[in-house]
Amino acid sequence: MRRGLASVVAALSLAGCATGRPPAPTIIDVDAWGGTAASTAAPAQPIRKITLHHQGEVWQDGADVAAYLRRLQQWSRLTRRWADIPYHYVIAPDGRIYAARPLQQPGDTNTDYDPRGHALLMLVGNFEVQQPTPAQLNAAVDLTAWLARENKLGLDDIASHKDYSAQTVCPGRNLYARIESGGFRAEVRRLLEAR
Ligand SMILES: [Zn+2]
Repeated sequence: MRRGLASVVAALSLAGCATGRPPAPTIIDVDAWGGTAASTAAPAQPIRKITLHHQGEVWQDGADVAAYLRRLQQWSRLTRRWADIPYHYVIAPDGRIYAARPLQQPGDTNTDYDPRGHALLMLVGNFEVQQPTPAQLNAAVDLTAWLARENKLGLDDIASHKDYSAQTVCPGRNLYARIESGGFRAEVRRLLEAR
């Protein structure tokens, strides 16, 4: 009887029915920050990479993230003529994760790499001169681990903007140092291996 139950549990785990690890992080949807959703009519892009960015502007403590996202969406559409915010997720200094462009749509960029197939994560702040907060880094690790599991990606698929384009310092030296050292990927691996 005990053996029978264990077999069932093992079978459920193999089938992916067991509790998902790492769990899906809480993501604040576009309606909640006052944005308008872009069309998702095009065929969904398969996700092959997870790529980290910074905002590239100094973030003032206590600034209103929802208001910033609404401005960014307007600028992206009206000035840049993009379908939406160029990134799929935006992570605030308090660790909250905001949905931006639908993940099924390729992102956009001002530089020379091809963002098709990349899930684009942007952490607000300018990490050339600021430090990402611990909450922001934890959220980035949680989101990256979840995306890696959902899309069956490996640690080698996790990188930053600068790894694909020599035209940018993004994600800024203070975040890039964590990518370059392997520290960020090690944190993601810890979550992926957690049971
Ligand atoms: Zn970037």
